Amino acid sequence: MRTLETLNLDHSYGRLPPVFYSRVEPTPLADPYLVSFNDEAARLVDLDPAEAKREKFLAVMAGNAPLNGSEPLAMLYSGHQFGAYVPQLGDGRALQIGEVINDRGERWALQLKGSGQTPYSRMADGRAVLRSSIREYLCSEAMHGLGIPTTRALCIVGADEPVYRETVETAAVLLRLAPSHVRFGSFEVFYYRKQHEHLALLAAHVIETFYPELADAPDRYYRFLVEVIERTARLIARWQAVGFSHGVMNTDNMSILGLTLDYGPFGFMERFDHGYICNHSDTGGRYAYGNQPHIGIWNAACLGQALTPLIPVEQCNAALQRYEPAYVEEYSRLMRAKLGLAAAEPGDPQLALDLLDIMAKSGVDYTIFFRALGDFQPGAGYAPLRDRFIEREAFDGWAQRYAARLAREASGDAERRIRMNRVNPKYVLRNYLAQVAIEKATSDKDYSEIDRLLHLLRRPYDEQPEMAAYAAPAPDWAQQIHVSCSS
Ligand code: AMP
Ligand code: MG
Repeated sequence: MRTLETLNLDHSYGRLPPVFYSRVEPTPLADPYLVSFNDEAARLVDLDPAEAKREKFLAVMAGNAPLNGSEPLAMLYSGHQFGAYVPQLGDGRALQIGEVINDRGERWALQLKGSGQTPYSRMADGRAVLRSSIREYLCSEAMHGLGIPTTRALCIVGADEPVYRETVETAAVLLRLAPSHVRFGSFEVFYYRKQHEHLALLAAHVIETFYPELADAPDRYYRFLVEVIERTARLIARWQAVGFSHGVMNTDNMSILGLTLDYGPFGFMERFDHGYICNHSDTGGRYAYGNQPHIGIWNAACLGQALTPLIPVEQCNAALQRYEPAYVEEYSRLMRAKLGLAAAEPGDPQLALDLLDIMAKSGVDYTIFFRALGDFQPGAGYAPLRDRFIEREAFDGWAQRYAARLAREASGDAERRIRMNRVNPKYVLRNYLAQVAIEKATSDKDYSEIDRLLHLLRRPYDEQPEMAAYAAPAPDWAQQIHVSCSS
């Protein structure tokens, strides 16, 4: 375990030429306080959790003191936002302060989010509010608990400095971690600027550092594109399987490593609905739950386009062809597991689709239903499941097919239930749960609920009976929570 002073820092991104980033110091934040600290994330960078008690820790995480050996930089990128190309974005309020190489040889880039303006801030303030920082902190750790690739979060510091959004809120800085924060848009910017030599440099950096097994292949750029496309397809399949909507799948929010990145107006769907839109500002539903798989390939095509100076067009097209099979294979695998099916039969995808269809018609809670499905016993009554449906006969018809399907593989009810509970989470970060934690934090500076959720969501597949209330669907008061892009 290391101290702040002895972290094993590296700066692989900072060794790229300056065109890729801007060196910027964080803007100090007056009188910061620690809102939450995640000891599990500390272990990723070999940081002794006791370090969180130091004044120096608070100062570093607030951007008030440098981390020894840090070289803060804001990364340049562009991207397609809601379908339209925006020539320059970049880290407008984030700074990468360094990369830790931990004792296991893993690389973790440390990024302060909300640490003040950068050359890419455009007209905005460079700050993040406590509300959205809590949401990102909790959701990224919840996704990790679910087994879904994601950026991680080490801590949140807050301050009383006002930040103006729809209302006046207060400032916070989130320390987030990822092997790399490079996005699809990090490549697009150099394609559209016609700076193809920079494209090649960035691709070489990403391949050498994160896809070393491809580095010596003569067709490494093509294989890299295939790998990113397949990772993206599998990531989105996983989102679909847990009912997660990202909310802003712009290409600047798409990770080159296939991680869930940039948590804004995300949502875990409660009642099953293909058209579920978590982002109140997404009036057209471009990023609706059911559209995510299509947007994934749309975004992959943007990346493919950006790489055409490095990869022949036919190969780019061939790489894009890999998206759909990768998605279908992963999604089918996950849905089979959610249904407790050990072997694959050709009719399984239809069985899953038909279930989703009747769930949608009855507005059945996605997480609760699948968790409860583990208790299904062919031949026995299944009232607790059936009663969730308005059209009970529709469920009866489906349940008969399901029972017949289960009979064909003769799995034991108890054994199947254990398998299903490992893939059907009991707990997800429902919006109202985050909202309760946010309200306690913003009105009373009471951060206990954040820590409670952090611990709960680390083990979403465990029963945790004392926490059962957290598995409930949103209460009436929470039906009207609107989550927008503002953060
Ligand atoms: P997002 O919608 O959060 O993914 O952000 C899109 C772009 O806007 C990125 O370049 C962000 O860095 C930038 N941005 C968002 N909010 C702010 C802010 N408050 N200050 C500066 N830049 C911001
Ligand atoms: Mg973003």
